[in-house]
Amino acid sequence: MSVYIDTDLCTGCPDHGESPCEEVCPGDLFFRKDGKAVLREDPDCWDCLACVKACPHQALTVSLPFQISESRQRMFASIKDNLIHWKVVDVSGHTVAEYFQKNRAGKE
Ligand code: SF4
Ligand code: SF4
Repeated sequence: MSVYIDTDLCTGCPDHGESPCEEVCPGDLFFRKDGKAVLREDPDCWDCLACVKACPHQALTVSLPFQISESRQRMFASIKDNLIHWKVVDVSGHTVAEYFQKNRAGKE
């Protein structure tokens, strides 16, 4: 899988010394440039999805591989009330799958 940054949704988290995506990535793959997040080395991504869950603006998604989805489907995550809401959307933006998971990190 690969992480996609929607630069329209990414605010750059100007109020954070370290943005949530920078903070959680175990590979230290994010940095910010010109007010937007940038992924340093995509091949080094571990597909842990921590950044997808951490972004407060749902600016990060992953493209699902063809083995588990139809082509070009993307997975989003948002966290609310100690639940992680996973959502898979097709190329038209229609939701094709949803899953709610307890947020074990316990933070929003
Ligand atoms: S956490 Fe989301 S909005 Fe903030 S800098 Fe990272 S990608 Fe952009
Ligand atoms: S999926 Fe994990 S390793 Fe890959 S960029 Fe996001 S936080 Fe970093």
